[in-house]
Amino acid sequence: MPELPEVETYRRYLEETCLNQPIQDVFVEDTKLLTTDYDLLVASLRGKQFVATERVGKNLFVQTDGGFYVHFHFGMTGDLAYYQFEEERPRFSRIVFYFQSGYKLAFICPRKFERIGIVENIPEYLKRKRIAEDALAISISTLDATLAKKKVFIKPVLLDQSVIAGIGNWIVDEVLFQARIHPERLASSLDESEVTHLHEAIQFVLKTAIDCEANYALFPENFIIHAREWAVSPYAEVNQHLLCPVCQQKLQIMRVGGRTTYFCAIDQPLKRT
Ligand SMILES: [Zn+2]
Repeated sequence: MPELPEVETYRRYLEETCLNQPIQDVFVEDTKLLTTDYDLLVASLRGKQFVATERVGKNLFVQTDGGFYVHFHFGMTGDLAYYQFEEERPRFSRIVFYFQSGYKLAFICPRKFERIGIVENIPEYLKRKRIAEDALAISISTLDATLAKKKVFIKPVLLDQSVIAGIGNWIVDEVLFQARIHPERLASSLDESEVTHLHEAIQFVLKTAIDCEANYALFPENFIIHAREWAVSPYAEVNQHLLCPVCQQKLQIMRVGGRTTYFCAIDQPLKRT
């Protein structure tokens, strides 16, 4: 599923390719993919240009010179492709923006869980959808104040988009591993230094994933994700045996908050508080 690093990669791609050129037309294969009426969407976009981009968590907002935004929601497998000739058009290009330049931007929607629509006001949209501050933008003090109020396991708290936006299942496991925090610690029990380590780990894991354009195989050797994704990992030899990259002991797998969770019982001990 596209998470913050993937969506940040799409944002940069769109910004490098599509800005400041008038849109001639928009093709939509299935209006179920739209959160805005088809006629309104097409009428609003004809002759307009994309001028800037903004990402909050997994949400991409593309600003137009009409003063409104096009919101992209990437669903399970959404992707973007910028191309010139029809024969380059990727499969599942269910929405295509045609620019007057002759170039096109395809929104690839293989499983039809993807959505686009017009958003007039981003803060109002985020409030209505209960989407909190972006995980890369949140400050230590905001994170600390939020966690202090949560007397529940840290893992589901970090997955909650109304607490911090953009962290999905593998990212939270990696963040907790890098911060050496057990996934079943109570969020409110973290001390100041643990919150600092957690904040650093969030930044580190997300920035590393963005630098690698979300390609797991390029992640550092000391990432726990190589055990989860061992089939595509360059460290498959050891990681298919689920060994911790730090202590070389067997990793634990259990359900936390209903989600499959990988962690190291030795490096992430459960301190009772
Ligand atoms: Zn370990």
